[in-house]
Amino acid sequence: MSDPPRHVRLAVIGSGPAGLTAALYAARAELHPLLLAGVPAGGQLLTTTDVENYPGFPDGIQGPQLVDLMRRQAVRFGTEVVDDNVTRVDLTRRPFRIETGSRGSYLADAVIVATGANARWLGLPSEERLKTKGISACATCDGFFFKGQELVVVGGGDSAMEEALFLTNFATHVTVVHRRASLRASSIMQARARAHPKISFVLDSAVEEVLGTDRVEGVRLKHLPSGRTSELRAGGLFVAIGHDPATAVFQGQLRLTPQGYLDVHEHTRTSVEGVFAAGDVADHRYRQAVTAAGAGCMAAIDAERWLAEHDAPTVAAPAAPAAGR
Ligand code: NAP
Repeated sequence: MSDPPRHVRLAVIGSGPAGLTAALYAARAELHPLLLAGVPAGGQLLTTTDVENYPGFPDGIQGPQLVDLMRRQAVRFGTEVVDDNVTRVDLTRRPFRIETGSRGSYLADAVIVATGANARWLGLPSEERLKTKGISACATCDGFFFKGQELVVVGGGDSAMEEALFLTNFATHVTVVHRRASLRASSIMQARARAHPKISFVLDSAVEEVLGTDRVEGVRLKHLPSGRTSELRAGGLFVAIGHDPATAVFQGQLRLTPQGYLDVHEHTRTSVEGVFAAGDVADHRYRQAVTAAGAGCMAAIDAERWLAEHDAPTVAAPAAPAAGR
């Protein structure tokens, strides 16, 4: 017979800046959080190279190193990390039940969901090859690295307009490539982008290939109605075709926004009492490591207060971690 599920006060699901900060705060509040880190652990920072806008690192830091430091800090104060994916949750009764792929099930009095979101990519082999060599899905993060260059933004939504407008601070010119004749973006964002002297549009067109050997040198475009191809020189490509929040295991249990993000009220509360959300899984607007970390802090404080206010069963504190963990 399998062991009964272990019961914890607080489970944090997700191990990007939001989850790790939530775990750090919860650990320092003596909640002995269980961090279900997911595989691979670390979130979007794992695939980021230079991070120059996370405060406290004047010379910048590599994304994976930043996540590793956050994890060590959370563990130092008593966070228990389980490197496995959550496969199922039952948030309909308390304590909440969480199942993992191979590390068994857990019961939790409160849960913080910090599963993040993934940028959508075009899915081209050349895009995969050049991903950290001139291709980005975040102008706020990477625009600074493209000073004085001609850039391409793919997408026709608000994000694409916003990215293009932001990139005009650095680029000599920005070309927005969109697959249809009309843009999806709100009229105000379209109007701003259309009025900008540094922005032009190539419509009804798709990026067929990213050109360049060691760095992005341009894109090959296909005009979809005619099938005609052309090349456009560019020093960088920004893919702004949307994000997919990682909400699959919460479908039908937590209320989502029309865009598929977790619907939160009072900052971090989800539609289920005792379940909180932090970071990109509930934020389509800011999507920054520092805002995710801030939201993780807020969720931990909210969860801690909620646990104190509600008569949640007391769970014995686990034994002190083994030396060297
Ligand atoms: P979005 O509205 O879903 O737009 C995605 C765009 O990418 C669409 O134009 C879509 O083309 C295109 N696209 C999708 N897959 C593609 C592919 N494989 N190849 C080429 N193009 C592809 O996503 P978003 O712009 O990230 O916005 C998400 C939500 O956040 C929206 O509700 C938006 O209003 C909101 N938002 C608001 C602001 C703001 O108000 N300042 C800023 C950013 C985002 P089609 O049009 O042909 O489908």
